[in-house]
Order: sequence, then structure tokens, then C-alpha cells
Amino acid sequence: MFIAETDLRKRKIRDKVKMTYVTSEPYIGHLGLGGVGDTKGMLESELRNKHIDWICNAKVDKIEDGMMYVTEVDENGVEKKKHELPFKHSMMLPAFKGIDALLGIENLVNPRGFVLVDEHQRNQTYKNIYSVGVCIAIPPLSQTPVPTGTPKTGYMIESMVTATAHNIREELDGGQPTHKGSWNALCLADFGDTGIAFLAMPQIPPRNVQWASRGKWVHWAKIAYEKYFIRKVRKGLSEPIYERLPLKMFGVMRLKGKK
Ligand SMILES: Cc1cc2nc3c(=O)[nH]c(=O)nc-3n(C[C@H](O)[C@H](O)[C@H](O)COP(=O)(O)OP(=O)(O)OC[C@H]3O[C@@H](n4cnc5c(N)ncnc54)[C@H](O)[C@@H]3O)c2cc1C
Repeated sequence: MFIAETDLRKRKIRDKVKMTYVTSEPYIGHLGLGGVGDTKGMLESELRNKHIDWICNAKVDKIEDGMMYVTEVDENGVEKKKHELPFKHSMMLPAFKGIDALLGIENLVNPRGFVLVDEHQRNQTYKNIYSVGVCIAIPPLSQTPVPTGTPKTGYMIESMVTATAHNIREELDGGQPTHKGSWNALCLADFGDTGIAFLAMPQIPPRNVQWASRGKWVHWAKIAYEKYFIRKVRKGLSEPIYERLPLKMFGVMRLKGKK
């Protein structure tokens, strides 16, 4: 959305386009996480600065060609207002669900098809199954008037993968899994010419560390990071020392309770 807004400004046609952000979050900057640092203030001010309207606590009822129908509810989930939003271009992010192949397998997945795992990323019933990433079941942080899922972010997932790799090795060596991912979140949200960076350790509150910052540097850092990340993946490197040591200085580590 912010990148689209920047693009419209660069083309000098922003004045011709009305933009609205429609979200199930109870407030801007909630992010499914109850916010990180001052993301509520930062993201709200960013939307105001960019003349983007917003509707929170929103359920999308239906979408027709050129028209989106939205119901806004109050804090008790009771209908507050109906909105009809005409559009020429829109982007809809539906609620995530697991894959059909796993749906309905008892004790492996939850009703939405997300894989149930313990703190070692292993399923408690099918102990030969580990799961990482977006497809695992994480309960929502708190009940919100319109359901909001807990996001799963890149670094958090890398920490799950690292723990899983160590745990499988331990099992192959005849032991039991002992490694746990830190589930830290370190994110750069690019807005096209500026952006917001945030660090949440761990991602799910209560947290030991939370920090958020806004600035043009985030946009440039995201471009640099993308180039670095693609190079790293092409070379088959997971966590080179020049990445691990600086992050360690800030206390950001993939494994919980390990030095
Ligand atoms: C719009 C958006 C912005 C984001 N921004 C950030 C960000 O700034 N920072 C951050 O840290 N995270 C961000 N995330 C989250 C991050 O991208 C994801 O958490 C991460 O990519 C998930 O990794 P994954 O390996 O679990 O799943 P994916 O990257 O989705 O990989 C799953 C793979 O499985 C394949 N697949 C699916 N079904 C099947 C099947 N039946 N059989 C075989 N293969 C299948 C898919 O094609 C895909 O390649 C963002 C996510 C979105 C959607």
C-alpha cells in the first residue's frame, strides 16, 4: 500500500487517487501482535501523512467488480457501520489456512489446517514430523472483535528452522530434541521511499526487548538486505559469521538459551 502510494506520487498522479486501508486489526499498528513499541503511533501518523484513510475492526462482506462491501464493528463485535468502497485497483489478503492435503488429520493439524508443534517444532502425536514457518499453528495473541492471526515473520521462521535442524540431528544421534527457536522478529517494512524497522524479542508478548524506528534509512536498508539475502541463498549460506556476530551484539540469536 505504501509502495503503491509512493509510486503514484512519483508519477504525479497521487492527487487523482483516493486510498483506503481496510483491516481486521482493532487499531492501526496492532499487526496481530498488540503492536511493537510505538507501531500504533508510527503507522497511524504515516497513513495520515500519506492521506490514506483507514477502517479498523472491518469484515469484508463481499467484493464485486469495482465495489468492496465492508462492515465495521465496535469493540464488542457489534455492527457499527456499513461501507461501500468503489475501486479501480484493490488488493485483498485473505485469512491464511493450511494445505488441503493435511486438513482434518486429527492431532496433526488444527481446524484451519495449521500443523500443531511443541516448543521443539515437533508434533506431539507424530513424533517423526517437524514443522516450521507459516504452516504451523500459533494461537492468536488475544481475542479481537474481528479475528486477527499472529503473523509469522522471516527471522522468526529462520529460528524455527535452525532449531529443527539441530533437533533432527539429536534424534539421529539417539537423543531427544533440546533446541528451541528464539522466535525473535526483526523486520524492515519498506514504504517505497521511507519505512519502519522493528525488533521484537520474542515476537509474541510479553517481550524482553521491543523497538521500532521510522526513516528513509529503512528503505535503503531493505534494498541492501534483499541483495545480501539473495546472494547468501545462492551461495547456500545460512548464517555467516559476519551476520551472526553483529546480531549477537544486539542479543538477536536464532536459538533460545544458547550462547
Ligand atoms: C505481503 C507480505 C509481506 C511480508 N513482509 C515481511 C517482512 O517485511 N519481514 C518478514 O520478516 N516477514 C515478512 N512476511 C512474512 C514472510 O514472508 C513469511 O513469513 C515467510 O516467507 C514464510 O516462509 P515459509 O517458508 O513458512 O512459507 P513460504 O515462503 O510461503 O513458502 C512456502 C512454499 O511452499 C509452497 N507450497 C505451498 N503449498 C504446497 C503444496 N501443497 N505442495 C508443495 N509446495 C507447496 C509454496 O509455493 C511456497 O514456495 C511477509 C509476508 C507477506 C505475505
